Amino acid sequence: MSGESLRQLEQKHETEKQKRAISFAAFISESALMELERRDMLTAAQFISVVGFNEDILTLKDERKGGRFFEVQIRNKKLRCITDKNSSDCAHVGFALALPEVRKVLSR
Ligand SMILES: [Zn+2]
Repeated sequence: MSGESLRQLEQKHETEKQKRAISFAAFISESALMELERRDMLTAAQFISVVGFNEDILTLKDERKGGRFFEVQIRNKKLRCITDKNSSDCAHVGFALALPEVRKVLSR
């Protein structure tokens, strides 16, 4: 890690500490995890596309799974991937959460 990015992380940690008690070590590992998750999501997102959005069902196509369709249901402001055994944290739910149309439904 370069001195510059370490300095930035220390500053971020200072800001975060105002909001909640968190040690620098915990903060670092949390930041790294979030960064990893973000990268995973971006990689996955390249292979996922929207097929259709109908009422509370969003249909996605996942090229990583041979172009299989995945259905994400939005109910009571919660998302679950029906195709992934009602998972609420698979890549399809993550992808759906980033879509403006889904955000609109969630903010209603
Ligand atoms: Zn899924």
